[in-house]
Amino acid sequence: MKTTDNKIPITNKPNSVVERIDTDGNIIQRRYYDSNGRAVKDIDYTNHGNPNQHPKVPHEHT
Ligand SMILES: [Zn+2]
Repeated sequence: MKTTDNKIPITNKPNSVVERIDTDGNIIQRRYYDSNGRAVKDIDYTNHGNPNQHPKVPHEHT
């Protein structure tokens, strides 16, 4: 599933993936859900405007 929403839901269909894209269709973030439908990990494709705290792009959050 793809969304341009600012917020990706914390719970979703089990074992699904949601991609957040900007209005140009570029991926900003990808969120993975476990077998209970709960978010387990995010991959960020931006540095949140903060390259010091996020030197690596893309990077992973759990
Ligand atoms: Zn991040």
